[in-house]
Amino acid sequence: MSTTSPFPTGTVLGYPRIGRRRELKRAVESFWKGGIDLAELERVSAELRAATRDRLASLGLDPVGSAIPESFSYYDQVLDAAVTVGATPARFAYLEDAVGKVDLPGYFTIARGEDEHLPVEMTKWFDTNYHYSVPEIGPETNFHLASDRIVRQFEEGKAQGYLTRPVIVGPVTFLLLSKPSESAPAGFRPISRLADLLPVYTELLGRLKDAGAEWVQLDEPGLVSESIDEERSVVLDAAAVAYQALGSAINRPQLFVAAPYAALDDALPVLAASPVEAIGLDLVRGDVPAAVPGLETKTLVGGVVDGHNVWRGDLGVAFEKLEALSKLSPSIAVASSTSLQHVPHDVNDEPNLSDRLKSWLAFAEQKVGQIATLARGLEAGRASIGDELNASATALADRLSAPGVKDNTVRARTSALTESDFSRGDYDARVAAQASALNLPDLPTTTIGSFPQTGDIRKARAAFVKGDITQEQYNEFLRDEIRNVVDLQEDIGLDVLVHGEPERNDMVQYFAENFDGFDVTANGWVQSYGTRATRPSLLWGDVSRPAPFTVEWSAFTQSLTEKPVKGMLTGPVTILAWSFVRDDQPLEETANQVALALRDEIADLEAAGIGIIQVDEPALRELLPLKVADQPEYLKWSVDSFRLATAGAADATQIHTHLCYSEFGVVIDAIRALDADVTSIEAARSKMDVVHDIKASGFDHGIGPGVYDIHSPRVPSVDEISELITTALGEIPASQVWINPDCGLKTRGYDETAASLRNILEATRAARV
Ligand code: GLN
Ligand code: ZN
Repeated sequence: MSTTSPFPTGTVLGYPRIGRRRELKRAVESFWKGGIDLAELERVSAELRAATRDRLASLGLDPVGSAIPESFSYYDQVLDAAVTVGATPARFAYLEDAVGKVDLPGYFTIARGEDEHLPVEMTKWFDTNYHYSVPEIGPETNFHLASDRIVRQFEEGKAQGYLTRPVIVGPVTFLLLSKPSESAPAGFRPISRLADLLPVYTELLGRLKDAGAEWVQLDEPGLVSESIDEERSVVLDAAAVAYQALGSAINRPQLFVAAPYAALDDALPVLAASPVEAIGLDLVRGDVPAAVPGLETKTLVGGVVDGHNVWRGDLGVAFEKLEALSKLSPSIAVASSTSLQHVPHDVNDEPNLSDRLKSWLAFAEQKVGQIATLARGLEAGRASIGDELNASATALADRLSAPGVKDNTVRARTSALTESDFSRGDYDARVAAQASALNLPDLPTTTIGSFPQTGDIRKARAAFVKGDITQEQYNEFLRDEIRNVVDLQEDIGLDVLVHGEPERNDMVQYFAENFDGFDVTANGWVQSYGTRATRPSLLWGDVSRPAPFTVEWSAFTQSLTEKPVKGMLTGPVTILAWSFVRDDQPLEETANQVALALRDEIADLEAAGIGIIQVDEPALRELLPLKVADQPEYLKWSVDSFRLATAGAADATQIHTHLCYSEFGVVIDAIRALDADVTSIEAARSKMDVVHDIKASGFDHGIGPGVYDIHSPRVPSVDEISELITTALGEIPASQVWINPDCGLKTRGYDETAASLRNILEATRAARV
């Protein structure tokens, strides 16, 4: 290895790739629909990458010093790694060409499925709201360098005049996040294939070196997480083996191993002893570590600017952390704590936020600016950035003392809470009261809440927001939607109906818009998976509910039908998880404020005659801390906040909850402790695996394991659904089982939705007799 160019003083671990106006989403979805061809998709994407490089350079990152990360992805960075190393699941082997390469359309097919071929699973990326495509690895996986896309993107940057830093998910994290393939024998562990995978990474490193790359970033958040289904010693051994091997490659760029989302802890000595040149530490989530042998030979990249939240933060504190880091090694640099893919592009692109609120915030561009400032401080001394440090301190002080940040009425209420506010009546009594109030058949059928958010709905909402139609016209449009959704559900024969959520742009933003203490953004899009993005709300002040806001819709829906209508709320933990939350008080305090606001809404729904209320908590597991020691405290307050929201409900009111996943694992006790009467979860894509865990756990409340994978346009056949129901009934008493899709239907079209729900009803009727 001949190159010794130093690591850039300031960098980011990754940048949003969807485009400031979600250009990538539009292009990819249009390509899927046949609106543009592959060449046009590639052109739009190349343009986005070029614009990102230009932007990062203009914001102060070194254009030729490997400071600009090459972190673009058409869909998902884990899927990128899978396609790069030739890890095509066997059922998609037909997508490979003669040399085992999958082209871009094939890549999308693996992500989304096709005909009888189920897509790869999707699951949460560490403790974020980003979802990745889960690789499937078995003894048969034929690792080989199957894509040079990462090399071509580096070369593309070079042609543009930038020497960038290619970014790829590291081999250890890649295998830790994989699941065993369908044909793998019982007990097979993907990490057991590490030795076969490493030569592919070595080859890729060689190719990047030949192309002129000086630094490559390998993302290894798998090393910080203790929530990974693998013994810690196995993880540490894998890290040692992998980085010894990659570091020993003769022809390679310098290696930067990034470990975002938490502290490396016992993995730090392993990396320090390996031949890698730079180590990225998350110093927002973790502390500056103690010295370990070898660390002084590495460049330590201090992730002191929060990549996971939008507050401007305290630049002075960030600089102090870098100073502490510099005691450990003569070579240090500053970076974001995580990829900036978790924050929106630009605060200055928000016409509706007050200047005051904006002065407290930093989105991706502002964070890059902060990093450039800190890098200047590292190079020229603290005094050289004195003005910026003062401005940051002033903004922070202003934020903490601004009106609305503390609301005495809200605070009086949370501080008066007692234990009884967190508990409902006895479960058996509730079951009896609900049975006589609701009179539901065996295996009751329902949906998770939303019905397709059609182009018409989006058009009407846009027209209303623009002022082209009046509130009353918009409401009448929504009532028509609801009438149609009710008619459809009655025609299909569902037992518990929903209103379909047409009035909600987003399940969290809608609540943020109706609660005090929040603001919402106009352009603050953040990728959640593939082409999907959300606009997290900004929770900056004390939260309360000025007036009921879901009651009118639920009551209207109930007036249209004899069947019970399920009211639909988003739970406190999910509201927190999918918003950018104030960081000036414990999350627990904020969660209880949100819970009380929801509790008020539930009381009003009951008073309006709604007998079933679902409080969605799909994010319960997502916020679970990656470190085991931090988990009990989190689970306590998160469960308590759900209980606080729902415990005011009468025995006869049936409380449902919905979770978007089924890896119950460490959260099973928490899910039980929620004490919801009915819990719906995803189960279709994993073929009902979860029912075994449910049985083993002794879960004895109502449970609706999903029978329809709504992440794909496929319509499940009656036989397929019947098989899933049979599997569920093989493990769980029929009296507990509900039949429902995996999740809400908002991303689906009406044709596939209606066809799928009809199949669900047909399979359910057959199972009832
Ligand atoms: N009630 C919501 C819906 O159906 C739930 C969505 C979710 O779980 N993410 O859309
Ligand atoms: Zn869901």
